[in-house]
Amino acid sequence: MSKKLILDVLKKTRSSSKIINKQEELKSESENDNDSITSKYFDIKRKRKRNSVKIQSDTKTIDEETKSKINEINTESNPHEHNAVDDKIKKRKSIQSENESNTETINNVINKGTNSSINEVNTESKPETCETINNKIKNPIETVVNPNKWMPQNWEVMLENIRKMRSNETAPVDSMGCHKCSDPNADPRISRYQSLIALMLSSQTKDQVTHAAMQRLNTYGCTPEIIMNTPDDVLEQLIYPVGFRKKKVQYIKKASKILIEEYKSDIPRTLEDLCKLPGVGPKMGHICMRIAWNEVSGIGVDTHVHRICNRISWVRKRTKTPEETRMDLEEWLPKHLWCDVNHLLVGFGQEICLPRFPKCESCLNKDICPSSTIKNKK
Ligand code: SF4
Repeated sequence: MSKKLILDVLKKTRSSSKIINKQEELKSESENDNDSITSKYFDIKRKRKRNSVKIQSDTKTIDEETKSKINEINTESNPHEHNAVDDKIKKRKSIQSENESNTETINNVINKGTNSSINEVNTESKPETCETINNKIKNPIETVVNPNKWMPQNWEVMLENIRKMRSNETAPVDSMGCHKCSDPNADPRISRYQSLIALMLSSQTKDQVTHAAMQRLNTYGCTPEIIMNTPDDVLEQLIYPVGFRKKKVQYIKKASKILIEEYKSDIPRTLEDLCKLPGVGPKMGHICMRIAWNEVSGIGVDTHVHRICNRISWVRKRTKTPEETRMDLEEWLPKHLWCDVNHLLVGFGQEICLPRFPKCESCLNKDICPSSTIKNKK
């Protein structure tokens, strides 16, 4: 073998040895990488397991807290609500059974055909709700519709819609009307007097203002004797900011004197006598008979009732005064509705059919009301 050939072989051997070394290096690196990846994989797996255990434990805690909250609600809040609901159900059942028994009694009396018995039923027990009054004054003979009698178009649908709109009883009259102004613990005679005074203060005054003034008067002492002996300026301050208070102070003092001298400090029992008191007109008289004596003598028509009846055409032709509206309304409205029509329409007038800018867009009567601004726009 020549020397050159030997050198070539040696060179090739060195080069292949280098390649082998490199390969081994790479192999070792790759093994290291594999080790590292495997270790990372196990790290991640361990972490995941730890997290899973933590999540399970957190979920368990949340479940337990939720269960304990539900138990709290069940044991604390619901009994109240249930009691309130139970009370309402009991009350409603008792009213229903009272109504049923009254209706049965009245039907029996009507079957006998004796008017005197009707009077007996009317005076026997004092009804407490409008419904019971209605049941008692409802006479099937009156409900026979006279075909020649004028009735406004759609009036029953309108009334039903107004009832629906008023069902939440959120108007000022519901919580602060004159029927809510007397001291609930007062003697019935004093309570009647306070209702009359509230009515006298209420004309051209908001329910909120009248109610607040009555609270002050009741705390001060609202009996005919105390009011009659109170100086005018003190009374004026007590009822401030009631409208026309100077005039009203004169009226309530004069009326108190009459009540002491002629009615043994009680209020008159008839509409006629009530209307003889200074500052008391038919509207006040009818409402007073209803609130104080639980009797329906007629419809109390104030500015709300007057305005709404004209807007929804519950009068044959436009009326100019509340008194004209009352007479027109009493001509056609069935008697069993007289009891609550004032309260329904006053609240409706306070919340929806406002004196200025009635809220026709949210009124259920907007499609049938002759004064609806929505319908007129169509
Ligand atoms: S539609 Fe308008 S005007 Fe007619 S009753 Fe309703 S709120 Fe009043």
